[in-house]
Amino acid sequence: MSADHPPQPDPALADRPVELLQALVRFDTTNPPGDERPCVEWVESLLSAAGFATETYAADPDRPNLVARLPGGDASPLMLYGHVDVVPTEGQDWTHPPFDAVVEDGFVWGRGTLDMKSGVAMMLAAALRAAREDTDLAGDLVVMVLSDEEAGGDHGAEFMATEHPEVFEGVEYALGEFGGFSMDLAGQRLYPIQTNEKAICWSKLTFHGPGGHASRGSRGGAMVDMAKTVRILDEERLPVHVTPSVEQMVERMAGELGGAVGDSLRDLLDPEKTDEVLDTLGDAGRMLDPLLHNTAAPTVVRGGDKENVLPAEVSLTLDCRILPGQTDEDLERELRALIPETVEFDFEVVRYEPFPSDPDLGLFDLLADTLESADPGARAVPFVLQAGTDARHLAQAGVQSYGFTPMRLPEGFDLMEMAHAADERIPTEAVGFGADRIHEVIERYDGSHVEN
Ligand SMILES: [Zn+2]
Repeated sequence: MSADHPPQPDPALADRPVELLQALVRFDTTNPPGDERPCVEWVESLLSAAGFATETYAADPDRPNLVARLPGGDASPLMLYGHVDVVPTEGQDWTHPPFDAVVEDGFVWGRGTLDMKSGVAMMLAAALRAAREDTDLAGDLVVMVLSDEEAGGDHGAEFMATEHPEVFEGVEYALGEFGGFSMDLAGQRLYPIQTNEKAICWSKLTFHGPGGHASRGSRGGAMVDMAKTVRILDEERLPVHVTPSVEQMVERMAGELGGAVGDSLRDLLDPEKTDEVLDTLGDAGRMLDPLLHNTAAPTVVRGGDKENVLPAEVSLTLDCRILPGQTDEDLERELRALIPETVEFDFEVVRYEPFPSDPDLGLFDLLADTLESADPGARAVPFVLQAGTDARHLAQAGVQSYGFTPMRLPEGFDLMEMAHAADERIPTEAVGFGADRIHEVIERYDGSHVEN
């Protein structure tokens, strides 16, 4: 880490988004424990020096959340939000120390350079420019910097949405993660913009059996039923669901790609053909698969505590993600239909965070246009994320989020693969690209939109 860290919170950083990103990365905000306070306080002094009215909100004083506001006209405020906590780096082998933010070979290297301190740096640069240029804002510009996204948001977005709903008053649209980055598919550059995401529905299945002395050998029982379940979840898919969001996304992609690829994408929307087509699509198939099914991934097994005793009870925790419009009851029914009747189990939902099924696409065209005019020939498409982000908490507060941290990435650069891994890095040019696009959205946002 350099000796002059943190740098002076200088509003002129508006023009140096890469330096902004480096400053953010150099705060070690590994979650757990997070310890986001020094980073959030630094951002607060930066935005307040630029004329924003700032306030922090904290469930835990070491893990504050910042809300900074630049006044605008009467239209609905536009919100930019991001998290500054990052996932651990333990046990990973890094080329450059993960909190040094080294710039080399055209990349900024470090934890959070993709997820999502780069996004926060872009938003800050864009917001600082809007303040400096005295941009005529249709509505207030609200920047929210959050703690604790990577552990579920209990100290961050969830806390803000439940304890401080007043912050979101009048806000219809927000820009956050995950999307706005380029992705090459069959020779066409696409920019997926997240408009919706799957819901978390962690579940626990408990299997029962006779137990007893293990010297008799294994014939059925709780452990075996658990194993049969794990095996079937590995081999089979849950039923196909074509939800309206995914239909829009696939239709748009098929339209842009055309030809044989376009045709097979369209076949995905026919539940009779979906699974067969997915198996032929390679990487794209692996990406689209969870968007067409509820998923159930075994993550924790508990049962047995003695070498010579057959356990009478074994539990299996499943990280289930369900599609917009599906419920925990639908999931239970699908699991019971997939697992053979001879395997009996109790079903319990451990954590369920439903997500609204119909996204409000009112801001989509503006976002798409800023990307498509900056990168002629590329196309923006609405995108449903298979994982969860803070967008689910904002949705509870009535705010539609768009995943919009724009990055023009070199072909073959696998952002999904790299985000929580060693050698996380971002092309320096992508940081400036994103800051410019977000600034353009701030300037062009006029508060009017089409209800869909
Ligand atoms: Zn993130």
